[in-house]
Amino acid sequence: MSAPLDRRQRAMLAEMGIPLWSPPARRHAVGRSPGKPAPVPQADARNTPPQPGVPAPAAAPERGLAALPPGVSGMDWAQLAAAVAQCRACGLCESRTQTVFGAGDRRADWMVVGEAPGREEDRLGEPFVGPAGQLLDNMLAAIGLSRHASSADAGTDAAGPGRPLRGVYIANVVKCRPPRNRNPEPDEIARCEPYLQRQIALVQPKIILAMGRFAVRALLKTDAPIGRLRGQVHAYEGVPVVVTYHPAYLLRALPDKAKAWQDLCLALSVAGGAAAESN
Ligand code: SF4
Repeated sequence: MSAPLDRRQRAMLAEMGIPLWSPPARRHAVGRSPGKPAPVPQADARNTPPQPGVPAPAAAPERGLAALPPGVSGMDWAQLAAAVAQCRACGLCESRTQTVFGAGDRRADWMVVGEAPGREEDRLGEPFVGPAGQLLDNMLAAIGLSRHASSADAGTDAAGPGRPLRGVYIANVVKCRPPRNRNPEPDEIARCEPYLQRQIALVQPKIILAMGRFAVRALLKTDAPIGRLRGQVHAYEGVPVVVTYHPAYLLRALPDKAKAWQDLCLALSVAGGAAAESN
């Protein structure tokens, strides 16, 4: 955790407009906030006001839709990918070009959860592409992660500056693009949620980075704003969760890039602690 940034990572951070920052010691105890509460900015790329909690999926599919396939919670990767590709469980299937399943190292210690595919993701079938995806890739590279790397090839050291790039798995809360990039509706998130749950269960990450309001809502079941949740370590099914801003939001809110860097450093310290415990 104390390894200094190398030249490549400093350059990346400079490109991102992020000043160098060192996390204070021992600020990552679960559920504990740092002394100074963060302000409460609008945290997301999407702009609708907070919705109430995510409801349970409707029992009967709407006309033209089909129920979620049975047994999602026991599927392997191939079965899960096939089920998502054919899914018609919510209205988002009507407007998608293709589903966006996930990308990266399926055995990674790190998992990034985003919100919903945008236009480029819908076109290419991969999460976090385009300018927001490039920013995410730069942010991840700065802490030693890449969606193109394999953690199995990087040894057992925790990810971090100065170490070989390690893998990360990236997925969204919903797998189909909402029309005109509108916010996903609560019932759409609820219908799609079993797929994300199964992805997390298969990856078995040691740390989850929840990016944006809808990722937070799906994982932590809270409507609290990002600004109030970041700076703490939450948990999803026993897995530590660190909350941060969605890269699409950061592209429009340059001052908050520094906060996102703080969040990454917090996640890095948590992941380092988890790796040390498992060794
Ligand atoms: S968003 Fe999810 S639940 Fe809705 S159709 Fe796509 S894969 Fe199925």
